[in-house]
Amino acid sequence: MSQYEDRRLLAELFAKEVSTYVATHPNSQKAHQKSQASLVNGVPMLWMAKWPGPFPVYVESAKGAHFTDLDGNDFTDFCLGDTGAMSGHASAPTVKAVQDQIAKGATFMLPTLDASRNAETLGARFGLPKWQFTLSATDANRHLIRFARQVTGRAKIAVHDYCYHGSVDETFAVLDDQGTTISRPNNIGKPSELNTTTVSLPFNDLAAAEKAFATGEVALLLIEPGLTNIGIVLPEPGYLEGLQALCVKYDVIFALDETHTLSAGAGGITARDSLKPDAVVLGKTIGGGVPVGALGFSEELSEKIANSLELESIDVGGVGGTLAGNALSMAAVRATLEEVLTPENFARMEQLAVTWQANIQATIDEYQLPWQVSRIGCRGEYSFRETAPSTGAEAAAAEDFELGQFLQLHAINQGILMTPFHNMVLVSPDTTAVDIEKHHRHFRDAVELLFAK
Ligand code: PMP
Repeated sequence: MSQYEDRRLLAELFAKEVSTYVATHPNSQKAHQKSQASLVNGVPMLWMAKWPGPFPVYVESAKGAHFTDLDGNDFTDFCLGDTGAMSGHASAPTVKAVQDQIAKGATFMLPTLDASRNAETLGARFGLPKWQFTLSATDANRHLIRFARQVTGRAKIAVHDYCYHGSVDETFAVLDDQGTTISRPNNIGKPSELNTTTVSLPFNDLAAAEKAFATGEVALLLIEPGLTNIGIVLPEPGYLEGLQALCVKYDVIFALDETHTLSAGAGGITARDSLKPDAVVLGKTIGGGVPVGALGFSEELSEKIANSLELESIDVGGVGGTLAGNALSMAAVRATLEEVLTPENFARMEQLAVTWQANIQATIDEYQLPWQVSRIGCRGEYSFRETAPSTGAEAAAAEDFELGQFLQLHAINQGILMTPFHNMVLVSPDTTAVDIEKHHRHFRDAVELLFAK
């Protein structure tokens, strides 16, 4: 819980934002009422009910860094599909590639030329020679866990406390007060006790990692190189290199899930920090919104996997998916990587995020807020604590659901969509300085409402 104390004022402010929201979104409200009859909670997926206010915004269309809702309201989109649209909505090269490919057939259970071309592009960016493609980052993580168990013969994986790697059973682990790995709260219908599959590690704690690896039970270390799903938690200098060295020492597969940290640049944190992981996971973004995931391997890991598999049963071994590597997604990845998510665009995106961060910091300083702001490339987040958190648990302790919901809805009422459930923004190649300034105004106005005496 944050230190914001005036809960009565917060409740009043939120109620006012709800009235404004309801008054300016009648068509979204109607659409939501209609959906109640056919969709669980009126939404196509459970978490879509968690947006602030009594119903979500319904989208009419989007282009670049903006979208229009059913009521004709224009939004600057800093959520960008929680990274799925980090390349900007409806980027012209991706749209063209997808239109061309769908006219020629979308899925064949056969490779097209784009698959190896994409593997070469990703290989050059991440320094890994061999790739596989899936439909989502979740799938890529699931498959990686299976491969890791297969080639090491070990049962467990290690992840960070408060990690998120998609809906992957083994990763829903946190640490309790005694430092024991347990299931995270509200793990829906958990299939097994998490301490049988997983060791949870505090972020930035090399000693805890070494202790876990020394048991000889850990097949794989699967981590985000900076946490992004409990707010941003940055690695301390030497932490990632230290983990890498420990993985070599204890023969643990070192895997970086760069699905979100791709915000650091074209080669993610892997390239930025010259890391040498055994495997990298990517998803969402690289298809410009078309569902896709990717899994990169070192030559050594790729060989071990290939040598451990029987051709005869490779189709039903628990790694696969009929639509994986389909021609449509491969065409989308080709255009998005080569023409949209280019190193030049990443540099521009990061520059705007630097300005965004400076704006937030200026308001924090002006109002002497006990808040902080952090950034990974073109992704930024402020949180309700004085200093940057160094573990997921510290970041979680600063969460304030009500304060967050007020800020989210205040933003929405000013035509700004933030990443849901966080105070996080993402900058696309189409985001402009005007969009950044718009967020600055919203943030300062909201702070003024919360803190003006
Ligand atoms: N890995 C990370 C780091 C993520 O943040 C997410 C989703 N937020 C995923 C994997 C899963 O992505 P998807 O839901 O698209 O499969």
